[in-house]
Amino acid sequence: MVLTVRQDSKPNNHPLWRDGHQSLQLPALKEPVDFDVVIIGGGFSGLWSAFHLLERDASLSIAIFEAEEIGFGASGRNGGWVSSDYPVDPFTLKKRHPNSDIEGFWDLMRSAIDEIGDFASTHAPTANFRKAGSLVFARNQAQLTRLQSSLFGKKRLLGKQETQSMLGVDGAIGSLFDPDCATVAPYPLLRALAQHLISRGVAIFEKSEAQLDEDSLRVNGHLVKCRKRIIATEAYKAPSRKQIPIYSLMVATSPLTSEQQSSVTRIPGLAFMEALHNVNYAQMTHDGRMAIGGRGARYPFGSRLRSRKESKESVHNQISSLLGKWFPHLGEWSVTHRWGGPVAVRWNWESYLFFDSKTQTGSIGGYVGDGVTISYLSAKALADCMLGGEKYMKMPFIENQSRKWPIEPLRFIGANALVSMVKLADHEERLTNRESLIYKGASLLIGK
Ligand SMILES: Cc1cc2nc3c(=O)[nH]c(=O)nc-3n(C[C@H](O)[C@H](O)[C@H](O)COP(=O)(O)OP(=O)(O)OC[C@H]3O[C@@H](n4cnc5c(N)ncnc54)[C@H](O)[C@@H]3O)c2cc1C
Repeated sequence: MVLTVRQDSKPNNHPLWRDGHQSLQLPALKEPVDFDVVIIGGGFSGLWSAFHLLERDASLSIAIFEAEEIGFGASGRNGGWVSSDYPVDPFTLKKRHPNSDIEGFWDLMRSAIDEIGDFASTHAPTANFRKAGSLVFARNQAQLTRLQSSLFGKKRLLGKQETQSMLGVDGAIGSLFDPDCATVAPYPLLRALAQHLISRGVAIFEKSEAQLDEDSLRVNGHLVKCRKRIIATEAYKAPSRKQIPIYSLMVATSPLTSEQQSSVTRIPGLAFMEALHNVNYAQMTHDGRMAIGGRGARYPFGSRLRSRKESKESVHNQISSLLGKWFPHLGEWSVTHRWGGPVAVRWNWESYLFFDSKTQTGSIGGYVGDGVTISYLSAKALADCMLGGEKYMKMPFIENQSRKWPIEPLRFIGANALVSMVKLADHEERLTNRESLIYKGASLLIGK
């Protein structure tokens, strides 16, 4: 198997989360090496895998190889929602996996949020982990109907008044509040995690691209020996029909004045989004900026990563225009940061953990746009599997097989039809106040 991080060029974008935090500038691999465990990929999946392995067996020698630098991938660029959200709803998941423990899965997701919070409060104070819940608000009846049918766990439906007391959003008629969600500045968290691992003896190499085939693992051309290996490269894999990259883009504003901030929310750390089909997500940062993201960039033919997709002006404008619609009273604000990145999507929109006991190779990923919490849980489960445990065997992501995406140009047509259709579906719902028929049709095209 050949792994690759092929991009056409370096992304021309600037995540807010990098401000004030220099790169770690870790060494590249320059000679053959031998470790107990080798991890490929320096994002949350790779780093939490090392963390959990060490929690279980502190004597392991572990190396992490990152082709670019720590935080280059989605882990350094995301929207900072640490949530128990999952791309497939619990009712569908139960039908698909009758023998899995779906309630147990969500319990573990919720605990993972708190465990990440414990780590952040001890080791990553500048990540500003704040657990205040998430508010998904409805601005039309169709959205509200959808929220009413997605109640589960500790989520609560809020009426118009209560919604507007939490978030000063124009036109909100109700919302779904989930107390189990935190917000964080992701790059400082990941950076602190890397430093913590280094202090515990993990060797982390940057500018060190791994090439794995049946017989050997080479990094920067040097032979790397190991007893176990983990592949945590998420969207940055050689193009294939197993997964497609979908782009999520973000903008951040300059800090709002204190009056502007309190007109939006008085709840520090609240995560919020509109119940649109076109995915969106926002938080107000600890220094009073709006950081908001969403989808809308087109899928690249052949699943080839294209850096220009990460900074598409029209998509950035469309995302920032949401702020104007939600908070028309805000007055003046300006966009200071724009960025984006790919997420990996399998045909079934579910994540996976595979462990081949013969080759002692594990892989985790497939998180779509909800990877911050589940990468922690998947890494914990993988560490358990690799060290002979069976605690996580009933999790729906274990050995989760998915159909492959169709061949090109069908997947290009299907994925991009979805991009256009979700926008139309939102428009349809605004006009009709009924759940979109267009969206129902679109879901069939993309495996949902
Ligand atoms: C704009 C955006 C917003 C998002 N918002 C949220 C959010 O608010 N909440 C949420 O839960 N999720 C969000 N996500 C998704 C989440 O960020 C990801 O699911 C998660 O960070 C994935 O972590 P990872 O470690 O698996 O992958 P990544 O962070 O992508 O790391 C993979 C790493 O592997 C490296 N690599 C690849 N191939 C090789 C190789 N051959 N050799 C060495 N290294 C290699 C890459 O360079 C990369 O750094 C968002 C994603 C994006 C792009």
